[in-house]
Amino acid sequence: MPRVVKKPARVGKSSASSRKTDIAIVGAGVAGCRLAYLLAGQGFEVTLFDPKPASPVRNWAKPMPGLGPQAFSDNTVAGPDWALIGDASGSVDSLTGEGIYYALKTAHLLAEALVDDNLRAYEPAWKAMAAAGIAKVSKKRGTFYHPATLRALGFLLDYSPSIRALACDVSSGSQRYDTLRTRIKSEIPAYIKETLFNLFFSRKGHL
Ligand SMILES: Cc1cc2nc3c(=O)[nH]c(=O)nc-3n(C[C@H](O)[C@H](O)[C@H](O)COP(=O)(O)OP(=O)(O)OC[C@H]3O[C@@H](n4cnc5c(N)ncnc54)[C@H](O)[C@@H]3O)c2cc1C
Repeated sequence: MPRVVKKPARVGKSSASSRKTDIAIVGAGVAGCRLAYLLAGQGFEVTLFDPKPASPVRNWAKPMPGLGPQAFSDNTVAGPDWALIGDASGSVDSLTGEGIYYALKTAHLLAEALVDDNLRAYEPAWKAMAAAGIAKVSKKRGTFYHPATLRALGFLLDYSPSIRALACDVSSGSQRYDTLRTRIKSEIPAYIKETLFNLFFSRKGHL
């Protein structure tokens, strides 16, 4: 069972005798709690430091600011005895502003590296994750948030259930960005058919 310490953590040098069974997690938010759960399940001794555990999770949504393309390539998320996960690592989707999926994903990547006793594996794994998704789409922010794009998207969301399903999958992280283009191409006939049908044969778009 992870131990929770309700004090702000002061990050300093860890002792030379730090062992694999001695993990301090600063922040008991989505990422920290997931990491603690995964590591405790593997027999690690884990302590979570947080003055307000799980405090930011509220029942309303807020888009988080994401990193720009250059910041993704320059980002450092791990050192000899530390690593960043979740929002602290900049793992936020710059298009949707969602961070929960990436908080969980980065916790998994770090847990895998720690279980293998190979913390060095975390940063390349983080870079590969970012390159396949959030780093790629951070270049598209300007196009995505252009008023014409948002108007077209709003229109399609209103009339096409397939577009709504796509939007759900993208925002939950279950649709990867590296296969998004292929999916959109294969679904274009459905978007057109549904939009035309609902536009002409239904009073409301939400069918
Ligand atoms: C209001 C709101 C709504 C959101 N809605 C969505 C959404 O709908 N979908 C989505 O995907 N994302 C959403 N997000 C973003 C999402 O919550 C974050 O991306 C996610 O929580 C990141 O997890 P995390 O563990 O990195 O950080 P957090 O969950 O923010 O946890 C960080 C923890 O660190 C603690 N902490 C900070 N400083 C210290 C310190 N010095 N010592 C010890 N502890 C410290 C804090 O108390 C906190 O508990 C929302 C964010 C907010 C604020």
